[in-house]
Amino acid sequence: MTTKATAAVIRDPKGQFEMETVELEDPRADEILVRIEASGVCHTDAKAQERVPMPAVLGHEGTGVVEAVGSAVNRVKPGDRVIISYPSCGTCPNCVEGKAYICDHAFPLSFAGTRLDGSKPITMNGESISSAFFQQSSFSTHSITLERDVVPVKGDHSPEMLAAIPCGVLTGAGAVLNTFKAGPKHGLVVFGAGAVGLSAVMAGHLAGVSPLIAVDIVEDRLNLALELGATHMLNAKEGDLANRIREISPRGVQFSLETSSNGQAFIAAIDCLSMGGQCGFVGAPNLDEKTPFSPQLILSRAASVRFVVLGSGIPNTFLPRIMELNQQGLFPYDRLIKTYDFSDINKAFEDSHAGVAIKPVLLMS
Ligand SMILES: [Zn+2]
Ligand SMILES: [Zn+2]
Repeated sequence: MTTKATAAVIRDPKGQFEMETVELEDPRADEILVRIEASGVCHTDAKAQERVPMPAVLGHEGTGVVEAVGSAVNRVKPGDRVIISYPSCGTCPNCVEGKAYICDHAFPLSFAGTRLDGSKPITMNGESISSAFFQQSSFSTHSITLERDVVPVKGDHSPEMLAAIPCGVLTGAGAVLNTFKAGPKHGLVVFGAGAVGLSAVMAGHLAGVSPLIAVDIVEDRLNLALELGATHMLNAKEGDLANRIREISPRGVQFSLETSSNGQAFIAAIDCLSMGGQCGFVGAPNLDEKTPFSPQLILSRAASVRFVVLGSGIPNTFLPRIMELNQQGLFPYDRLIKTYDFSDINKAFEDSHAGVAIKPVLLMS
């Protein structure tokens, strides 16, 4: 038995998604079949097009209803609603220690286009294709995923509210609350006011951080950052960021989060730190000969510079907390969401690139 599904298939890294009929294998013992209601669109879906074998079914922020479960599954049953979060193996030392976000197998589980054993759960025209992207490939009406990667959802939530949070929002909020553990004694600068950056702003506001400075080049996004709790905004086009940050906070700030992958922003994110401060970044900075970077800068600030993986967040506890905070009006991430019909997936990516949509979410049903 297989399940027929409609998936958005990409054949070429620079090409468009095309709707195709595909077939999904039945769930294995530790897997579940989910009817996807919605899937978030994340920058990683765009970046991954360079590294995932093609043709491929991408998508890694799925949510939906469990339709079938494997023989060893006991946390969920058919009819349950779930959010599908990031994958982990569950058995490596980091997973056993409760740090699944730095699972030893995170990269193959996310980007190999296969299960860990090399098999692929999706076939198209009789041939298996690159799938199991983040062990979910959620740009599809159905997904095969691992039981351990899903968060069961209770209560009445719209699909877009569930699909918006398992990657970018988790990363931004988690960076501030889990990785930095920022609080009222700390200052924070957030570079880039996209989904990750604005989630960090909301979390910083919630944690009482001050000053809370947002940096971007798009005025609309900066204004939204102010509405979401930033105390200051700086337009990076006006230059000299580190000095302007020191005009606001003469010692520099304890924490900075760089979400734009811009090389100059990365340098400013270290330069603006107070002694012993921490800079977190979520994507590789674009450094080249025009933006020379010296490790001396880290030394001169006695700084820690770290890659922030998925906001050091444990989905089963952190995602329900984000939803609860939202319902209390304390974490209004609904303001970032723009919904699209699944068939408009190419438009959603275009709008994301153009900065028109902060958090695009595709609706499958
Ligand atoms: Zn692991
Ligand atoms: Zn993502």
